[in-house]
Amino acid sequence: MKDIDSNTNLTSIHEVKYYIASFVDIHGISKAKMVPADHLEEMKNGSEMFTGAALDGVPQNVNDDEVAAHPDLSRSITLPWNKSIVWCPSDLYVKDKSFEACSRTILKRVIAEALDYGLSFNLGIEAEFFIFKGTHSDFTPLSERDNLGKAAYDVRLLLDNIDIVNEIVTAMNELGWGVYSFDHEDANGQVEIDFNFSDVLTMCDRFVFLRFMAGEIARKHGAFVSFMPKPLAHLTGSGAHFNMSATDKNGNNVFKSDSQNGQVSDLAKFFSGGIIKHAAAITAVIAPTVNSYKRLTKRTSASGFTWAPIVASFGSNNRTNMLRTPMAGNRVECRAVDSSVNPYLAAALLISAGLEGVKNEISPGEHYTENLYEVSVDQLEKQGVKFLPKSLIEAITAFEASDLAHRVFGESMFHSYCKYKKQEWEEYHQYVSEWEISRYLKMF
Ligand code: GLU
Ligand code: MG
Ligand code: MG
Repeated sequence: MKDIDSNTNLTSIHEVKYYIASFVDIHGISKAKMVPADHLEEMKNGSEMFTGAALDGVPQNVNDDEVAAHPDLSRSITLPWNKSIVWCPSDLYVKDKSFEACSRTILKRVIAEALDYGLSFNLGIEAEFFIFKGTHSDFTPLSERDNLGKAAYDVRLLLDNIDIVNEIVTAMNELGWGVYSFDHEDANGQVEIDFNFSDVLTMCDRFVFLRFMAGEIARKHGAFVSFMPKPLAHLTGSGAHFNMSATDKNGNNVFKSDSQNGQVSDLAKFFSGGIIKHAAAITAVIAPTVNSYKRLTKRTSASGFTWAPIVASFGSNNRTNMLRTPMAGNRVECRAVDSSVNPYLAAALLISAGLEGVKNEISPGEHYTENLYEVSVDQLEKQGVKFLPKSLIEAITAFEASDLAHRVFGESMFHSYCKYKKQEWEEYHQYVSEWEISRYLKMF
């Protein structure tokens, strides 16, 4: 059996031994069953059945009918480190009906809605993550060098990580993803890899695969990667900035304006207005863990600014905005998204909110060029700028009250998301941390 994937550059003829039918849990982590290549026809017809109840946040009961994975072979990916295996992102079905709560299906519903309106969305995700060695309880950046000053863009630290980064970048390029730049990020042990944008569904599949692939590659080198949003309290966290744009029926980017001044089009502004309007509810999905909110702060104790947004604002090349319009003026970058995101759910909600903005011509508010970390709370409030939620429970409370979220997620996933995330918050809330012990134990 020959490799049949179409979106990779792995064109050499090689024997495929196994196909993976993959779909994601609530976190956007790939879960799978594997079939021998001579079983591909059956797999295409939905032979791979799962008990959704076995996975985090997939709304099924143990006694429910199993869900079947229908592979999207047009977006399959040959594992660069084992070319006999092909990974296929899949959509879930129950018998011959689409499974309402499948993350990928939720995004596909939104893509179809946008297409009906005449828009095809593109997405680029900037991948930031840490490379560590050690264990859960005792880990450090791979590089031994920790007193070189600020880590941002440090070429020595980048080169200390180059064996792993090179292997990841080489694999991404072999797959045809077009890596165009990578660097050492602001925190020690943190890197960023940037690659070409694509249609939104392809990019979401790629991001799910990238987290999996980067982990496998690091493991071979005796290290591990972490896409946890804020693993080191005193340094910056990892974003997964969503760079969004849309084309019309003729393939023209309708986010780009003719003004040549780096500003985006009115349509892109209205799109941003929809996102700003629903920012609190959206945050529950783009910053989905209790840890995410440690990242959405102004400062860190050791490295100064975080570069992560704290308010729902729009405008210019300014990194303190939640929605930034980079200088090319051809896209809107949502900076509140972090690396623990389920990209399908996040893209679905962002695009739906944006479409509402486009349809109703919602203004994104003022175009902020100033450092919003330094504008006083009073002034922000006077200007009607809203703070992003400061905790998962605040965000999930807004999500639960959101008709938009309800509609986009569909009945069962909406309730499952609220339930799962409230439980996550409760567990965290009941935990007494080392910080509390050191602060209060002998204080009173
Ligand atoms: N690491 C920052 C974040 O958490 C972003 C830094 C940058 O602008 O690339 O979003
Ligand atoms: Mg970055
Ligand atoms: Mg960015």
